[in-house]
Amino acid sequence: MDKSTLKAKICETIDQYKDEIISIGQDIYDHPELGYKEFYATNLISNKFKELGLSVKDHIAVTGCRGSINQDKNGPKIAVLGEMDAIMCHEHKDADKETGAIHACGHHIQSAAMMGVAIGLIRSGAIDSLDGKIDFFAVPAEEFVELEYRSQLKDAGKIKYFGGKQELISNGEFDDVSMAMMIHSLDLEKENKKALIGPVGNGFVGKKVQFIGKESHAGGAPEKGVNALNAAMLAINNIHAQRETFTEAERVRVHPIITKGGDIVNVVPADVRMESYVRARTINGMLDANTKVNRALRAGAMAVGANIKINEIPGYLPLLQNDPLDTLFKNNIQSFISEEEIFEGGDFTGSFDFGDVSHIIPTLHPMIGGISGDLHTRDFKVSDDELAYIISAKAMAMTIVDLLFDHAKEANNILSNFKPVLTKEEYLKLLEGIDRTIEE
Ligand SMILES: [Zn+2]
Repeated sequence: MDKSTLKAKICETIDQYKDEIISIGQDIYDHPELGYKEFYATNLISNKFKELGLSVKDHIAVTGCRGSINQDKNGPKIAVLGEMDAIMCHEHKDADKETGAIHACGHHIQSAAMMGVAIGLIRSGAIDSLDGKIDFFAVPAEEFVELEYRSQLKDAGKIKYFGGKQELISNGEFDDVSMAMMIHSLDLEKENKKALIGPVGNGFVGKKVQFIGKESHAGGAPEKGVNALNAAMLAINNIHAQRETFTEAERVRVHPIITKGGDIVNVVPADVRMESYVRARTINGMLDANTKVNRALRAGAMAVGANIKINEIPGYLPLLQNDPLDTLFKNNIQSFISEEEIFEGGDFTGSFDFGDVSHIIPTLHPMIGGISGDLHTRDFKVSDDELAYIISAKAMAMTIVDLLFDHAKEANNILSNFKPVLTKEEYLKLLEGIDRTIEE
């Protein structure tokens, strides 16, 4: 069978099972779970993997699973990823009434599209004509939230890192993967576009900060206290005073919040807590901005004579793109949408943990429409099932055919021209360097 017949067969199969693919997404949407708590979604996907005859490994990082096929083939291994975690947005009409969890970042779509790729390749029989291995990953915890819960998991030895993909790189799940792909949803309706191909994004360092002062009667004897809230407010202003030193190219974003401002109003605050990200476009930019932010935080504490504890948490690395993978994907998605409907590039000052993967192996991370409303807001909704789920699945599956057809010529070509920014060892060393506590 030639390549185009193979692709046509896969697309036919995906169409045939369209309702099943969309219902997987709907099922995950109806059961939103935050990171490292995706037990329902993992179980659902794991069972589907087994139905498809994949060999399955469960609980790859607290939750999550991976299904493997074609393991006896010699060629490279492609990983297709689908994230599973929800966010919190109490204002969304479909949010879980208790937890506020809601799929307002479209991760349920990713998981369903990933299953769509598996269904298309396997049920069409096309998988036998491909000269390489494929692993499907249901990935936990993309959103960097609930830092307390994740600290507990870390203290209990259940995870080393807060991000799902960091954890999977660290625990060896990516060791045998040659390249990885996934889609992410994005509202492109206002621009009259349907896909964005080749995005880059910021990386970040996560921070938990505690200003430690001394309590005293706020009315009777404020002179006997050390006001930790004043330290925090000065620190925030000190951070603002750094902003003119951040270069345009680095796209630095620092956005602290105070998570605890005091205990009761008539006591001088002695324990004030803050969380922040320090984001930038390059690893050096992140580390440089982080040094300045630490200086600003410490100066705030010093000014009032408070102590400070800065807990630094490895966030995500900047998202890098790979031209040859983007080109293959673009050619394939043009079977369904026009060139004018494609936005090439994309500059994101937010962060994706897929960025970490992109520093080690070639990666593909297009953003696909079919949703309306901004990510992480009450307005998020799926507006076009066909584009969000089905075209995403088809374009990824077709790209896999391009990569693994004919002795995996294309995949091997990309791999031989790829120079990773970091080896896994360098990557883990970098993360360990960021993972620290400063106390003074
Ligand atoms: Zn997301």
